[in-house]
Amino acid sequence: MNTHPDSLYLRPLTVRDAVRMAGEHINDHRYLAGGTDLLVNRFQGNDATPCLIDLSGIEALHQVTITDQWLRIGALVRLNDLMTDPTVLAEFPGLQLAAHAVGSPMIRRTATLGGNLLCENRCSFYNQSEWWRDAVGRCLKCDGDICIATGGRKACFSKLSSDTAPMLIALDAQVEVAVPGDTITMPVRDLYTGDGMAPFALPPAALVQAVLVPMGRGFRTAFRKLRRREAVDFSSLTTAVSVDAAGKVRIVVGAVDPGPVVVEGTTADDRAQLILKAFKKARVIDNDTFPRTYRKEMITVFLERCFADIDATTNN
Ligand SMILES: Cc1cc2nc3c(=O)[nH]c(=O)nc-3n(C[C@H](O)[C@H](O)[C@H](O)COP(=O)(O)OP(=O)(O)OC[C@H]3O[C@@H](n4cnc5c(N)ncnc54)[C@H](O)[C@@H]3O)c2cc1C
Repeated sequence: MNTHPDSLYLRPLTVRDAVRMAGEHINDHRYLAGGTDLLVNRFQGNDATPCLIDLSGIEALHQVTITDQWLRIGALVRLNDLMTDPTVLAEFPGLQLAAHAVGSPMIRRTATLGGNLLCENRCSFYNQSEWWRDAVGRCLKCDGDICIATGGRKACFSKLSSDTAPMLIALDAQVEVAVPGDTITMPVRDLYTGDGMAPFALPPAALVQAVLVPMGRGFRTAFRKLRRREAVDFSSLTTAVSVDAAGKVRIVVGAVDPGPVVVEGTTADDRAQLILKAFKKARVIDNDTFPRTYRKEMITVFLERCFADIDATTNN
Protein backbone atom coordinates (compact mmCIF):
# COMPACT_ATOMS: atom_id res chain seq x y z
CA MET A 1 0.00 0.00 0.00
CA ASN A 2 1.30 3.43 -0.83
CA THR A 3 -1.50 5.95 -0.71
CA HIS A 4 0.84 8.74 0.32
CA PRO A 5 3.41 9.79 -2.27
CA ASP A 6 5.71 11.40 0.29
CA SER A 7 5.48 8.59 2.79
CA LEU A 8 8.39 7.46 4.91
CA TYR A 9 8.54 4.04 6.55
CA LEU A 10 10.99 3.51 9.42
CA ARG A 11 11.67 0.32 11.37
CA PRO A 12 13.67 0.89 14.57
CA LEU A 13 15.01 -2.02 16.66
CA THR A 14 15.03 -0.25 20.03
CA VAL A 15 12.61 1.97 21.93
CA ARG A 16 15.26 4.67 22.15
CA ASP A 17 15.63 4.75 18.34
CA ALA A 18 11.87 4.76 17.86
CA VAL A 19 11.44 7.76 20.15
CA ARG A 20 14.39 9.53 18.50
CA MET A 21 12.86 8.98 15.04
CA ALA A 22 9.50 10.24 16.33
CA GLY A 23 11.28 13.31 17.71
CA GLU A 24 12.78 13.97 14.27
CA HIS A 25 9.27 13.81 12.73
CA ILE A 26 7.51 15.31 15.70
CA ASN A 27 4.28 16.48 14.04
CA ASP A 28 4.04 14.07 11.16
CA HIS A 29 4.63 10.55 12.46
CA ARG A 30 2.58 7.67 13.75
CA TYR A 31 3.74 4.50 15.42
CA LEU A 32 2.57 1.37 13.63
CA ALA A 33 1.85 -1.69 15.80
CA GLY A 34 -0.56 -4.31 14.37
CA GLY A 35 -2.00 -1.72 11.96
CA THR A 36 -5.57 -3.06 12.34
CA ASP A 37 -6.86 0.37 13.33
CA LEU A 38 -4.35 2.75 11.79
CA LEU A 39 -4.27 1.19 8.30
CA VAL A 40 -8.07 1.10 8.07
CA ASN A 41 -8.18 4.78 8.98
CA ARG A 42 -5.60 5.48 6.28
CA PHE A 43 -7.57 3.54 3.64
CA GLN A 44 -10.65 5.59 4.56
CA GLY A 45 -8.72 8.83 4.18
CA ASN A 46 -8.89 9.65 7.89
CA ASP A 47 -5.15 9.55 8.37
CA ALA A 48 -2.49 10.81 6.00
CA THR A 49 0.45 11.08 8.38
CA PRO A 50 3.50 10.78 6.11
CA CYS A 51 5.92 9.00 8.47
CA LEU A 52 5.11 5.53 9.83
CA ILE A 53 7.40 4.10 12.53
CA ASP A 54 6.91 0.33 12.60
CA LEU A 55 7.44 -0.99 16.14
CA SER A 56 7.33 -4.70 15.29
CA GLY A 57 11.14 -5.12 15.30
CA ILE A 58 11.50 -3.98 18.94
CA GLU A 59 11.85 -7.27 20.80
CA ALA A 60 11.50 -5.74 24.28
CA LEU A 61 7.93 -4.64 23.52
CA HIS A 62 6.78 -8.24 23.00
CA GLN A 63 7.56 -9.50 26.53
CA VAL A 64 5.25 -10.38 29.44
CA THR A 65 6.96 -10.43 32.85
CA ILE A 66 5.78 -10.75 36.46
CA THR A 67 7.10 -9.18 39.65
CA ASP A 68 5.56 -9.17 43.15
CA GLN A 69 3.99 -5.85 42.30
CA TRP A 70 3.01 -5.96 38.65
CA LEU A 71 2.09 -8.05 35.66
CA ARG A 72 4.04 -6.13 33.02
CA ILE A 73 2.63 -6.60 29.51
CA GLY A 74 4.69 -5.25 26.61
CA ALA A 75 2.78 -2.90 24.32
CA LEU A 76 3.23 -5.20 21.32
CA VAL A 77 1.77 -8.30 22.99
CA ARG A 78 -1.03 -9.45 20.72
CA LEU A 79 -4.54 -9.70 22.12
CA ASN A 80 -4.72 -13.36 21.14
CA ASP A 81 -1.58 -14.11 23.20
CA LEU A 82 -2.94 -12.09 26.12
CA MET A 83 -6.06 -14.27 26.13
CA THR A 84 -4.02 -17.42 26.65
CA ASP A 85 -1.39 -16.03 29.03
CA PRO A 86 -1.47 -18.18 32.22
CA THR A 87 -1.14 -15.22 34.62
CA VAL A 88 -3.90 -13.30 32.88
CA LEU A 89 -6.15 -16.36 33.03
CA ALA A 90 -5.41 -17.02 36.70
CA GLU A 91 -5.25 -13.46 38.08
CA PHE A 92 -7.15 -11.23 35.66
CA PRO A 93 -9.92 -13.20 33.92
CA GLY A 94 -11.72 -9.91 33.22
CA LEU A 95 -8.79 -8.81 31.05
CA GLN A 96 -9.00 -12.08 29.15
CA LEU A 97 -12.71 -11.39 28.48
CA ALA A 98 -11.97 -7.83 27.36
CA ALA A 99 -9.22 -8.94 24.96
CA HIS A 100 -11.51 -11.66 23.61
CA ALA A 101 -14.23 -9.06 22.96
CA VAL A 102 -12.07 -7.17 20.44
CA GLY A 103 -12.90 -7.71 16.75
CA SER A 104 -12.55 -11.22 15.35
CA PRO A 105 -9.98 -14.05 15.79
CA MET A 106 -7.99 -12.81 12.79
CA ILE A 107 -7.86 -9.27 14.14
CA ARG A 108 -6.83 -10.42 17.63
CA ARG A 109 -3.90 -12.34 16.14
CA THR A 110 -2.54 -9.07 14.71
CA ALA A 111 -3.86 -6.41 17.09
CA THR A 112 -1.66 -5.38 20.03
CA LEU A 113 -2.54 -4.22 23.52
CA GLY A 114 -0.77 -0.86 23.09
CA GLY A 115 -2.59 -0.25 19.81
CA ASN A 116 -5.89 -1.17 21.43
CA LEU A 117 -5.46 1.42 24.18
CA LEU A 118 -4.76 4.04 21.54
CA CYS A 119 -7.16 3.03 18.77
CA GLU A 120 -8.86 6.12 17.37
CA ASN A 121 -12.28 7.23 18.67
CA ARG A 122 -15.15 6.30 16.41
CA CYS A 123 -18.40 7.84 15.15
CA SER A 124 -20.87 6.75 12.48
CA PHE A 125 -20.24 10.06 10.67
CA TYR A 126 -16.45 9.70 10.79
CA ASN A 127 -15.69 6.03 10.06
CA GLN A 128 -16.97 6.09 6.50
CA SER A 129 -15.43 6.20 3.07
CA GLU A 130 -14.35 9.59 1.70
CA TRP A 131 -17.14 9.72 -0.88
CA TRP A 132 -19.74 8.99 1.84
CA ARG A 133 -18.38 11.79 4.01
CA ASP A 134 -18.24 14.17 1.05
CA ALA A 135 -21.86 13.36 0.22
CA VAL A 136 -23.21 13.79 3.76
CA GLY A 137 -20.99 16.70 4.72
CA ARG A 138 -17.72 16.46 6.59
CA CYS A 139 -17.87 16.53 10.35
CA LEU A 140 -15.62 18.40 12.79
CA LYS A 141 -13.26 15.42 13.10
CA CYS A 142 -12.88 15.31 9.27
CA ASP A 143 -12.05 19.00 8.78
CA GLY A 144 -15.72 20.06 8.79
CA ASP A 145 -17.22 22.88 10.90
CA ILE A 146 -19.75 21.11 13.11
CA CYS A 147 -20.59 17.81 14.75
CA ILE A 148 -23.19 16.21 12.47
CA ALA A 149 -24.16 13.55 15.01
CA THR A 150 -25.38 16.21 17.45
CA GLY A 151 -26.97 18.36 14.74
CA GLY A 152 -24.42 21.16 14.83
CA ARG A 153 -22.51 21.35 18.10
CA LYS A 154 -18.97 22.69 17.99
CA ALA A 155 -17.51 19.76 19.92
CA CYS A 156 -16.65 16.20 18.91
CA PHE A 157 -18.33 13.30 20.73
CA SER A 158 -16.68 10.43 18.84
CA LYS A 159 -16.62 7.51 21.25
CA LEU A 160 -13.79 5.75 23.01
CA SER A 161 -13.60 2.40 21.21
CA SER A 162 -11.00 0.36 23.06
CA ASP A 163 -12.47 -2.66 24.84
CA THR A 164 -9.43 -3.33 27.00
CA ALA A 165 -9.22 0.25 28.32
CA PRO A 166 -12.33 0.03 30.57
CA MET A 167 -11.10 -3.24 32.12
CA LEU A 168 -7.53 -1.98 32.58
CA ILE A 169 -8.84 1.18 34.24
CA ALA A 170 -11.06 -0.96 36.50
CA LEU A 171 -7.91 -2.92 37.41
CA ASP A 172 -6.11 0.34 38.28
CA ALA A 173 -3.46 -0.40 35.64
CA GLN A 174 -0.66 1.98 34.67
CA VAL A 175 1.18 2.55 31.41
CA GLU A 176 4.93 2.91 31.07
CA VAL A 177 5.61 5.55 28.43
CA ALA A 178 8.92 6.34 26.73
CA VAL A 179 9.41 10.01 25.92
CA PRO A 180 12.58 11.63 24.57
CA GLY A 181 15.25 11.15 27.27
CA ASP A 182 12.93 9.66 29.90
CA THR A 183 10.37 7.03 30.88
CA ILE A 184 7.21 8.03 32.73
CA THR A 185 4.48 5.98 34.35
CA MET A 186 0.86 7.11 34.39
CA PRO A 187 -2.55 5.58 35.12
CA VAL A 188 -4.27 4.16 32.03
CA ARG A 189 -7.18 6.39 32.98
CA ASP A 190 -5.03 9.50 32.37
CA LEU A 191 -4.35 8.47 28.75
CA TYR A 192 -7.77 9.84 27.80
CA THR A 193 -8.73 13.49 27.47
CA GLY A 194 -12.49 13.08 27.03
CA ASP A 195 -12.28 15.27 23.88
CA GLY A 196 -13.24 13.38 20.71
CA MET A 197 -11.06 15.63 18.53
CA ALA A 198 -7.83 14.78 20.40
CA PRO A 199 -8.69 11.79 22.59
CA PHE A 200 -5.21 10.93 23.90
CA ALA A 201 -3.18 12.81 26.50
CA LEU A 202 0.31 11.72 25.52
CA PRO A 203 3.30 14.04 25.12
CA PRO A 204 4.75 14.43 21.59
CA ALA A 205 6.76 11.39 20.39
CA ALA A 206 5.56 9.34 23.41
CA LEU A 207 5.66 5.60 22.92
CA VAL A 208 3.67 3.27 25.16
CA GLN A 209 6.15 0.57 26.21
CA ALA A 210 4.12 -1.57 28.56
CA VAL A 211 0.97 -1.90 30.62
CA LEU A 212 1.43 -2.58 34.34
CA VAL A 213 -1.41 -4.41 36.09
CA PRO A 214 -1.14 -4.44 39.92
CA MET A 215 -0.75 -7.89 41.49
CA GLY A 216 -2.10 -8.93 44.88
CA ARG A 217 -5.09 -6.59 45.08
CA GLY A 218 -7.57 -9.49 45.10
CA PHE A 219 -9.70 -8.07 42.29
CA ARG A 220 -13.03 -9.57 41.37
CA THR A 221 -14.20 -8.24 38.02
CA ALA A 222 -17.01 -8.38 35.51
CA PHE A 223 -17.12 -7.32 31.87
CA ARG A 224 -19.94 -6.84 29.36
CA LYS A 225 -20.01 -5.59 25.78
CA LEU A 226 -22.95 -4.62 23.56
CA ARG A 227 -22.49 -4.96 19.80
CA ARG A 228 -24.50 -5.82 16.73
CA ARG A 229 -22.57 -8.93 15.68
CA GLU A 230 -20.71 -10.89 18.36
CA ALA A 231 -18.27 -12.10 15.73
CA VAL A 232 -16.58 -8.83 14.82
CA ASP A 233 -18.21 -5.52 15.69
CA PHE A 234 -16.85 -2.56 17.58
CA SER A 235 -18.54 -1.78 20.86
CA SER A 236 -21.79 0.12 21.27
CA LEU A 237 -21.32 -0.05 25.05
CA THR A 238 -18.58 -1.64 27.15
CA THR A 239 -18.81 -2.01 30.94
CA ALA A 240 -16.13 -3.16 33.37
CA VAL A 241 -16.54 -3.34 37.14
CA SER A 242 -13.96 -4.26 39.77
CA VAL A 243 -14.10 -4.83 43.51
CA ASP A 244 -10.77 -5.29 45.28
CA ALA A 245 -10.00 -7.06 48.56
CA ALA A 246 -10.10 -3.72 50.44
CA GLY A 247 -13.67 -3.15 49.24
CA LYS A 248 -12.88 -0.48 46.63
CA VAL A 249 -15.34 -0.46 43.75
CA ARG A 250 -14.58 0.93 40.33
CA ILE A 251 -17.09 1.19 37.50
CA VAL A 252 -15.80 2.01 34.02
CA VAL A 253 -18.03 2.50 30.99
CA GLY A 254 -16.71 2.75 27.43
CA ALA A 255 -18.09 3.48 23.94
CA VAL A 256 -20.72 5.95 25.19
CA ASP A 257 -18.55 9.04 25.63
CA PRO A 258 -15.34 10.41 24.10
CA GLY A 259 -13.44 9.10 27.14
CA PRO A 260 -13.94 6.41 29.74
CA VAL A 261 -16.71 7.12 32.26
CA VAL A 262 -15.30 6.26 35.69
CA VAL A 263 -17.17 6.06 39.00
CA GLU A 264 -15.46 5.04 42.23
CA GLY A 265 -16.89 3.94 45.54
CA THR A 266 -16.71 1.21 48.14
CA THR A 267 -18.72 -1.89 48.92
CA ALA A 268 -20.45 0.11 51.66
CA ASP A 269 -21.98 2.47 49.08
CA ASP A 270 -25.44 2.09 47.59
CA ARG A 271 -24.81 0.30 44.28
CA ALA A 272 -27.86 1.78 42.61
CA GLN A 273 -26.46 5.25 43.33
CA LEU A 274 -23.05 4.34 41.86
CA ILE A 275 -24.76 3.00 38.74
CA LEU A 276 -26.89 6.13 38.50
CA LYS A 277 -23.75 8.29 38.65
CA ALA A 278 -22.25 6.38 35.69
CA PHE A 279 -25.55 6.67 33.81
CA LYS A 280 -25.64 10.44 34.35
CA LYS A 281 -21.99 11.01 33.44
CA ALA A 282 -22.10 9.22 30.06
CA ARG A 283 -22.56 11.74 27.23
CA VAL A 284 -24.24 9.30 24.84
CA ILE A 285 -25.16 10.71 21.43
CA ASP A 286 -26.56 9.18 18.25
CA ASN A 287 -23.26 8.12 16.65
CA ASP A 288 -23.72 4.35 16.60
CA THR A 289 -25.89 1.73 14.90
CA PHE A 290 -27.97 1.38 18.11
CA PRO A 291 -30.12 4.38 19.11
CA ARG A 292 -28.79 6.68 21.83
CA THR A 293 -31.68 5.99 24.22
CA TYR A 294 -31.19 2.23 24.01
CA ARG A 295 -27.43 2.45 24.68
CA LYS A 296 -28.08 4.80 27.59
CA GLU A 297 -30.67 2.45 29.15
CA MET A 298 -28.33 -0.50 28.65
CA ILE A 299 -25.69 1.17 30.86
CA THR A 300 -27.87 0.48 33.91
CA VAL A 301 -28.80 -3.01 32.71
CA PHE A 302 -25.18 -4.01 32.04
CA LEU A 303 -23.87 -2.55 35.29
CA GLU A 304 -26.52 -4.39 37.31
CA ARG A 305 -25.53 -7.58 35.50
CA CYS A 306 -21.84 -6.91 36.17
CA PHE A 307 -22.50 -6.58 39.91
CA ALA A 308 -24.58 -9.78 39.80
CA ASP A 309 -21.63 -11.54 38.08
CA ILE A 310 -19.30 -10.33 40.83
CA ASP A 311 -21.72 -11.48 43.55
CA ALA A 312 -21.87 -14.89 41.89
CA THR A 313 -18.04 -15.15 42.07
CA THR A 314 -18.16 -14.31 45.80
CA ASN A 315 -20.75 -16.96 46.54
CA ASN A 316 -18.79 -19.76 44.85
C1 LIG B 1 -13.20 -5.15 11.59
C2 LIG B 1 -12.55 -4.55 12.81
C3 LIG B 1 -13.15 -4.76 14.03
C4 LIG B 1 -12.57 -4.22 15.19
N1 LIG B 1 -13.21 -4.42 16.37
C5 LIG B 1 -12.69 -3.86 17.50
C6 LIG B 1 -13.34 -4.07 18.74
O1 LIG B 1 -14.35 -4.77 18.84
N2 LIG B 1 -12.80 -3.47 19.85
C7 LIG B 1 -11.67 -2.72 19.80
O2 LIG B 1 -11.22 -2.25 20.86
N3 LIG B 1 -11.03 -2.51 18.62
C8 LIG B 1 -11.51 -3.07 17.48
N4 LIG B 1 -10.86 -2.88 16.28
C9 LIG B 1 -9.74 -1.91 16.21
C10 LIG B 1 -8.37 -2.54 16.32
O3 LIG B 1 -8.32 -3.78 15.66
C11 LIG B 1 -7.95 -2.76 17.76
O4 LIG B 1 -8.22 -1.61 18.53
C12 LIG B 1 -6.48 -3.12 17.89
O5 LIG B 1 -6.21 -3.57 19.20
C13 LIG B 1 -5.52 -2.00 17.52
O6 LIG B 1 -4.21 -2.49 17.75
P1 LIG B 1 -3.10 -2.42 16.62
O7 LIG B 1 -1.88 -3.05 17.19
O8 LIG B 1 -3.58 -2.99 15.34
O9 LIG B 1 -2.93 -0.84 16.52
P2 LIG B 1 -2.47 0.08 15.29
O10 LIG B 1 -3.56 0.10 14.28
O11 LIG B 1 -1.12 -0.29 14.83
O12 LIG B 1 -2.37 1.48 16.05
C14 LIG B 1 -3.51 2.14 16.57
C15 LIG B 1 -3.08 3.53 17.08
O13 LIG B 1 -2.24 3.39 18.23
C16 LIG B 1 -0.97 4.01 18.00
N5 LIG B 1 0.00 3.11 18.64
C17 LIG B 1 0.07 1.76 18.49
N6 LIG B 1 0.98 1.25 19.33
C18 LIG B 1 1.52 2.29 20.01
C19 LIG B 1 2.50 2.40 21.03
N7 LIG B 1 3.10 1.32 21.53
N8 LIG B 1 2.81 3.63 21.50
C20 LIG B 1 2.19 4.72 21.03
N9 LIG B 1 1.24 4.68 20.05
C21 LIG B 1 0.89 3.48 19.56
C22 LIG B 1 -0.83 4.09 16.50
O14 LIG B 1 0.03 5.16 16.11
C23 LIG B 1 -2.27 4.31 16.06
O15 LIG B 1 -2.59 5.68 16.19
C24 LIG B 1 -11.39 -3.45 15.11
C25 LIG B 1 -10.76 -3.26 13.86
C26 LIG B 1 -11.35 -3.80 12.72
C27 LIG B 1 -10.67 -3.61 11.40
